[in-house]
Parts: sequence; structure tokens; C-alpha cells
Amino acid sequence: MENFDAATAIQDLQYFGEFGGVNPSISDSSTYTFLSAKTMSDTFEGNTEGCYLYSRHSSPSNLYLSEALAKLEGYENANVTASGMGAITSVLLQLCKSGDHIVSSRTIYGGTYAFMKNFLPGFQIGTSFVDITYLEKVENAITDRTKMIYCETVSNPLLEIADLKALSKLAKKYNLKLVVDNTFSPLSVSPKLLGADITVHSLTKFINGSSDAVGGVICGSSDFINALKDVNSGACMLLGPTMDSLRAASILKNLRTLHLRIAKHSENALYLAQRWEEDGLNVKYPGLESHRQHELYKSMMQGNYGFGGLIALDLKTVEKANEVMEMMQQENLGYLAVSLGFYKTLFSASGSSTSSEIPEDEQKEMGLSPGLIRFSIGLDHDIERTYEKMKACMRKAGVLSAVAV
Ligand SMILES: *Cc1c(COP(=O)(O)O)cnc(C)c1O
Repeated sequence: MENFDAATAIQDLQYFGEFGGVNPSISDSSTYTFLSAKTMSDTFEGNTEGCYLYSRHSSPSNLYLSEALAKLEGYENANVTASGMGAITSVLLQLCKSGDHIVSSRTIYGGTYAFMKNFLPGFQIGTSFVDITYLEKVENAITDRTKMIYCETVSNPLLEIADLKALSKLAKKYNLKLVVDNTFSPLSVSPKLLGADITVHSLTKFINGSSDAVGGVICGSSDFINALKDVNSGACMLLGPTMDSLRAASILKNLRTLHLRIAKHSENALYLAQRWEEDGLNVKYPGLESHRQHELYKSMMQGNYGFGGLIALDLKTVEKANEVMEMMQQENLGYLAVSLGFYKTLFSASGSSTSSEIPEDEQKEMGLSPGLIRFSIGLDHDIERTYEKMKACMRKAGVLSAVAV
């Protein structure tokens, strides 16, 4: 695999504040003055490099963060948005018009699924949801109206891996765009290197990492990013999912520690996944050899960031899952909360929370059990201690086999 060091590329970005501050100044303005009227009209036509016009279009803080995230993903350019959904919906509406069609992975973030399934048909945009781990199913779903293949590198919540190289080959063969949501695997996987045309993120999760902000980003070619920001026809400009400058500045500061955090999340998650597997629990983690796509994921990974911070643990029934989660929260081992990428472990039963947009029969078909707990493993200093305490909760709930007890 090509050598690509995103963490160093970000480290090399140096921005100073107005008064020599070590952090870039935040521009506390929504609009900008022009010295001449001619420059203003040129800027509206998109001709003036370095001129700010109005903050829905761009602002200094948003451009700094966008540049850093373009480096993270190895793209020419990027545009930050107010949320992950703001990024995803803008990309879909920019690329698909009435009559067009999307081939999407069926195991995707609940909000994205709901948008494709319930919202886009109102604009005559159809979606075929397929199990993208079978390439022939993807290929069979492509029609002459298909515009894109959409997937998540590591799927939510089942932690299935998309073979991005193979999917990009398929996309090229049919002249489609491959759009990848890389929210679960920043730094670990670089979709661009594997052929993704566009990569999106919810910054709300690992990238910001402190569960205090909502944000998103679209990474792509400069042509595509400029098209999104076009004052006459750009989805980001016209739908208005604009990130606030104050948020952009705070997320950029958190991005500086992403490489340390991801490595620690992964280290802790691998430890727990291995122990739970030894204890006879039904656990899915891409770092386990028992994961169907362990070798594939290894071949896609960059650097030493590990297999990520997410684990799926199936306790079969929602009652058992709830009992264990409530006990773990009582013991201060984590929070019963949706979202991911926090310093603290977060857990939720996906079927009745983040994936509840997916009808029950479809959940069943894709192997999403009602007792499936999605863990976002935190940055615990002593993960062995955490494991022992979690084990005590599981023992109390009677979910450990006789061997493990
Ligand atoms: C959270 C999430 C989103 C949506 O992001 P928001 O910032 O909540 O709008 C999209 N994709 C994935 C994989 C997510 O986890």
C-alpha cells in the first residue's frame, strides 16, 4: 500500500492568530467588506482567490478546518458542514437529480438510510440497498440511471467492511461515483487511496472526540467542492448546512490529538474484544481473526492506528442488553448513550436506537439482533480493570457461559 501519513500532513499545517497567537484567530463576522465594488462582483462570480464574501460561502476558520480535513483524507479540497447529515445530504443532492438512482450498502447509519429510503423518493431519486460485501449484488443493482455507489468503510452497527478497492473498480467500470462515509475509521483507512471519489465524515464522532459539537465534512476534488459552494447551483451554498466559525476553530484544536486518541481507542477495543471472545461471548470486531473480513481490513489499513474503537456485542435479547448496559452505567464504566468517539465508553442497543429507522424485518435480514450492543470504547487508562468490572456486570446478568463464570 502506498505510504500516506495523514497525521504528519496535519501536523505540518501551521496557522497563526492575528496577534501571533498559537491558534488561528476566529473571524467573528458573518459578512466582509470590499475595498472596491468591482472586487465584490468578481467574488460573486467566484473569481477572487482569498476574498471572503459571506460566511455561508466560506469563513477563515472553516477554511482552516476544511484544509486540515482534506489533508486527513488526502484530497485536493474539502468543505465543512454543520453536521454529518448536512455533508451526506448535500453530496447526494448535488450528484443525483430527478430520475437518478443510488446503489447503497444496506448497513449504513440510520439517518442516511432514512434519507435515501423516505426522503429522496419525493424527488424521484431511488435507492437499491444491497449487501455490499457481495460484489455481484452491487453490480446486479446498477441500472443506466445509477449515479453512485454509497457505503461506509466500516458499517454501522454490524462492523462489516466495504472492499473499497473492488467497489471503486466497479464504480469506474460503470462511470459512477464511489461515495464513502469514513466516520468510523479516520486515519486507519484512507478511502481516497483505495479509489473513493468522495469521502464524508460526521465530525461529531472521533474527529472532534469530545461529544460537545456537531459537524461534518465533504472531501473531494477542488472541482466538486467548488461546485458544492457555487452561489447559483451548489448544495452547500443553497441548502445552507453551514458550520459556525467558533465550532470550526474548536474542532480544529481537537483534530490535533486525533492520532493519539484513535490508537488508544483501538488498543482498548482490541483488548476487550479478545477477552470477550475468550469468555465465549458473541462479539464482532474487525481486529479479531474470527471477523469474516479481518484479512481484508488489514490489507486496507494505514499506519498503526489499529482496528478502531467500535465493538458489536450480541446479547441476543434487548432485555439482557438493557440490563447489562444499565449495570455498566451504574458502575461508571460508560454511558448509555448514542454517538461514538468520546473519551468515555458509550453503549446503546442499535436495533432500538440508532438503527431504529430500519424496519424490524429488515434488521433481522441483515443480522441486526435486538440484543446487539454497539460499544464505542473509551480512552480508559486501565482497560484490564474496566474489563474485570464489566465482567462482573455480565456475570450478574447471567450472560456469561459456565466456562467464563
Ligand atoms: C453520526 C453519523 C452520521 C451523522 O452525523 P451527524 O453529525 O450526527 O449529522 C453519519 N454517518 C455515520 C457513520 C455516523 O456515525
